[in-house]
Amino acid sequence: MSAPILLAKELSKQFPVGGGFLSRSEYVHAVDSVSFSVQRGETFGLVGESGCGKSTLGRLLIRLIDPSGGVVQFDGTDLTTLSASAMRSMRRRMQIVHQNPYAAIDPRMKAREVVAQPLIVHGVFDRRGARARAIELLEQVGLTARHATRYPHQLSGGQLQRVAIARAISLEPELLILDEPTSALDVSVQAQILRLLEDLRAEHDLTYVFISHDLSVIRYISDTIGVMYLGRIVESGTAQDVFDSPQHPYSRALIEAAPEPDFAVRKPLSVLEGNVPSALDPPRGCHFHERCPIARPLCSEVGPVLNEIGGGRRVACHFPLDGTATDHPEPGLREGSEDGDE
Ligand code: SF4
Repeated sequence: MSAPILLAKELSKQFPVGGGFLSRSEYVHAVDSVSFSVQRGETFGLVGESGCGKSTLGRLLIRLIDPSGGVVQFDGTDLTTLSASAMRSMRRRMQIVHQNPYAAIDPRMKAREVVAQPLIVHGVFDRRGARARAIELLEQVGLTARHATRYPHQLSGGQLQRVAIARAISLEPELLILDEPTSALDVSVQAQILRLLEDLRAEHDLTYVFISHDLSVIRYISDTIGVMYLGRIVESGTAQDVFDSPQHPYSRALIEAAPEPDFAVRKPLSVLEGNVPSALDPPRGCHFHERCPIARPLCSEVGPVLNEIGGGRRVACHFPLDGTATDHPEPGLREGSEDGDE
C-alpha cells in the first residue's frame, strides 16, 4: 500500500472551560489521541453523534486550529511544525466545506466573486481572469452564468453549497474536508450534492474526509470510515466491513439505527439509551460503558486500546462482537491507566 496522503497520530485537542480569577480552568478533551490514515483518492467517513468531536478533528486536520498534542502529516509533511506562512501556502492543497454555506460565505459578495477571491488572493489570476475562471468553476458544479451575479440570499441552500464547493476546488486542492456538507439540505438536494461530490472526486483526483452524523450518507459516500465516540475513534475499517459486521457495540447501535442503506431515508442517531457523557468528566474505564449493552466489570475500570483485528480493521473494545476478545488486563494490573486509550 502506498504512503497515505493524510495521517493523524495521537492527535488531541483540549479546550479550557471555566476558570476565573480565583478558580482553575478545567479542560474538555474534544479530540483525544486519535490516529488514522487516509489513502490518496479515497473518501474517509467520520461518523458519530453530535458533540463527539468530529468537526474539531476536521479542523485539526488542516490546522485551522492547533492541536494540543500529536501529529498531522499531509503528503509526508508534518503540518504541526510548519510556520504560519508555510501553512498558508500548504493550505492551497487542502480546503474545507462547511455545513452552513450562509454562515461561511460573505453575504455582500456575488457568487462569482466568492469563487474568484482565492484565485486573486493566491495570485493565480488577475481580477478579470479570476472572474472568467469562476464562471467555469460554477458551471462545473452545475450552476450557470445566471447564478454568478447573485448574492447568497438570492440562492437556495443547495445552490449556495455548490458555490462553496466551487470555491473550495478553485485552487485545485488535493484534500477536501467536508464537514456535514449536506446536513442542512433537503433530502432530494442532498442526493444531488452527494452525486456532484462523487463526480468531482473522480474528475479532480480528490481525497475526502467526509464528516457526518448521518449513517446513511456515510455509507453511501465512504470507502473507509472511523466511528467516533466522545473524542475517540472506537472503530475503523472499510465501510463495507464496518457496516456488514460492526465489532464495537457503539458502531452496531448506530448501524441498527440507520433503517436503509439509502441516504434518502434518514433517521437521527437516537436508539442508544442515555446521553453522551460530558467530555469534561468522561466515565472512568471505557467511555462507553454506561451505555453499552454488553459491558462487564472490567469495562468500568480499564479503558480499551484501539487494536488491529486484521484486514486493516481496528476496534477499541475488550469484547468485540465477533467474540475475539482482546487481551484483558485485570483491573488494577494495567500500568499507568485508569482511564486508558480507547
Ligand atoms: Fe462495551 Fe466494554 Fe467494549 Fe466498552 S470495552 S464497548 S463497555 S464491551
